[in-house]
Amino acid sequence: MNFNCKENIKMAPYCSMKVGGCAKYLALPKTEEELISALKYFREKGEKYIVVGNCSNLIFTDDGYDGAVIATTDMKGISFENGIITALCGDTLSSLARTALDNSLTGLEFCYGIPGTVGGAVFMNAGAYGGEISEHFIRGRFLNASNEIVTLNGNELEFGYRTSRLMREELILISAEFKAERGEKEAIRATMDELMQKRKSKQPLEFPSCGSAFKRPEGYFAGALIEQCGLKGYSIGGARVSEKHAGFIINGGGATATDVINLLSHVSETVFKNTGVVLEPEIRVIL
Ligand SMILES: Cc1cc2nc3c(=O)[nH]c(=O)nc-3n(C[C@H](O)[C@H](O)[C@H](O)COP(=O)(O)OP(=O)(O)OC[C@H]3O[C@@H](n4cnc5c(N)ncnc54)[C@H](O)[C@@H]3O)c2cc1C
Repeated sequence: MNFNCKENIKMAPYCSMKVGGCAKYLALPKTEEELISALKYFREKGEKYIVVGNCSNLIFTDDGYDGAVIATTDMKGISFENGIITALCGDTLSSLARTALDNSLTGLEFCYGIPGTVGGAVFMNAGAYGGEISEHFIRGRFLNASNEIVTLNGNELEFGYRTSRLMREELILISAEFKAERGEKEAIRATMDELMQKRKSKQPLEFPSCGSAFKRPEGYFAGALIEQCGLKGYSIGGARVSEKHAGFIINGGGATATDVINLLSHVSETVFKNTGVVLEPEIRVIL
């Protein structure tokens, strides 16, 4: 084994919701080569595995994960050349935004403050304030299920609202190239600061969470529907619908993964009963 791998590791500290049981293995590759050998190793062993970034959009259950969690957070290496930003899957979205700023490129300001990695963002097609990662994604290098490295362009990734081909097919992002427009540095910095201020004033950043708990249903806002149903502040165990932003489920202290899962179900059932609108969770529960 040529990569850092720990056994029987509690996942809660690694997850932004701060819940979840133990993983049988936690692998932390530092390079592309180590990521590929970790994937090949666990595939050959017949071990269940999942590749994660910052775990800012997922929770593991209280029973934990009976397999290998391969986290890319130690894989860093962002660069800018010939108008293109190239990032490794473990680079953060904030560093993507900062690299764009350093090189006077505009369009990626929305990434600033989303607490995920490039890999998680491409998988989820992360977005905010009118921007989406798919609009800037040129191409990526992926390891497919046959252990081959394939290069895919943005138009081959079937991007949609918080969805991509990566959700339907085994494609592990290794690195990606992004484009952005020439801009004026001070204006880019001002937009980033403004968006960060918006996050701080509107989102319950003082509590652990996974961001928006539900996808935006067409024609509605999840937070407004949840509030309309009187669920603001509603809690199950330590999991609570945020009083600051009803679209967020927070760990108000001592929550278990079961509390979060039960609250997700309760909220979507109540909203459906009262409004007829189906809320689909954005948080991924890993079994
Ligand atoms: C406070 C807060 C605010 C947030 N605000 C936003 C927001 O404004 N907009 C938004 O879209 N999201 C937001 N999120 C959610 C989250 O940050 C994003 O979805 C982010 O893109 C997830 O990245 P991650 O690295 O944490 O992915 P993870 O949560 O680790 O993983 C998410 C999924 O991606 C897969 N994945 C991860 N890496 C790879 C890879 N290299 N190859 C293939 N698959 C991979 C995982 O298997 C998993 O299914 C917020 C979360 C928090 C806590």
